[in-house]
Amino acid sequence: MKSARLYGIEDIRIEDIPVPDITEYEVLLRVKASFICGTDVRFYKNGKPGGSDEPLVAGHEIAGIIEKVGTLAAGYHVGMRVGVAPNFGCGVCDICTGGNTHMCKDSEALGVTVDGGFAEFMRIPAAAVRQGNISPIADNLSFEEAAMAEPLSCVFNAYEKIGIYPGDHVLVIGAGPIGLMHVRMALLAGAASVYVTDISKERLDLAVRLNPELTALPSETLDESVKKYTDGRLMNLVITAASVPSIQEAAFRYVGLNGRVMFFGGLPKGKSTVRLDTNEIHYKQLTVAGTTRQSLKQYRTCLKLLESGRLKVSDLITSSANLDRISEVIANVAAGKGLKSVIII
Ligand SMILES: [Zn+2]
Ligand SMILES: [Zn+2]
Repeated sequence: MKSARLYGIEDIRIEDIPVPDITEYEVLLRVKASFICGTDVRFYKNGKPGGSDEPLVAGHEIAGIIEKVGTLAAGYHVGMRVGVAPNFGCGVCDICTGGNTHMCKDSEALGVTVDGGFAEFMRIPAAAVRQGNISPIADNLSFEEAAMAEPLSCVFNAYEKIGIYPGDHVLVIGAGPIGLMHVRMALLAGAASVYVTDISKERLDLAVRLNPELTALPSETLDESVKKYTDGRLMNLVITAASVPSIQEAAFRYVGLNGRVMFFGGLPKGKSTVRLDTNEIHYKQLTVAGTTRQSLKQYRTCLKLLESGRLKVSDLITSSANLDRISEVIANVAAGKGLKSVIII
């Protein structure tokens, strides 16, 4: 089968490798759509995770068709159209049984610790099959939309944690694809006004074109415009959707009394210590939270949300290419071109 394997920094090779074998507890997926995520860009720029010398098939935002089912893998059949959530845990610890398999201390992830979706076929390991990482999708959902349930459910995790309420004024910092999914969650949740800021004017223009209800605030005049648009009361919620330390520090300037701050985008290793005036949190009675990845429940909820048509993501897909062009597409994503890029297999 054709695969894109990451060997090291900026070294992805298109290779013909054997179709993975599966055990009787496993499932073989014929991958149809696999998105490039910031995580894949990081692997491409900084090298793959873990210490192994084995090349990695990255890709964790995946949908496809079941090609083969192990004799003891109940609940799935050949030909089923499915989305696959990437994170799975040991399945038996308190964290896993509490519904947080993505936070298990032994958690693994497709496309990160085991081979993922940038190949024609992928093996879904037994633990992931058993935990329900494979979700059947409705006929009205394209493979591309289904694969977007992964990043969307990361956003949904933040929404559930921090809450967005009718009447809220919400500022999203970062107008990339993740930022725009936060925007759409906020609009769906009934926010009175949703604002987005970014250093890229091009991204701000695109954000407003895709979401006409949105107000774009250029970063150079952000302090004044936040005050102006909220009559000095500042935001109810600020979401950081960019991996930049100074943004986390600045977030507190834009949030008002009893407000909330969501640190969504993680920071690069070694840069995650930031300066905070904790009196801002204390005297403004702020709630500050972070989230990472998604639970399976959140993943499935987002598939249903996409199936319902109440939240759309298809217009966030701005480029699609086949596996042969993956290095070029990753370089484009790294340069901030477009929004979501999908590899169609
Ligand atoms: Zn991702
Ligand atoms: Zn566990």
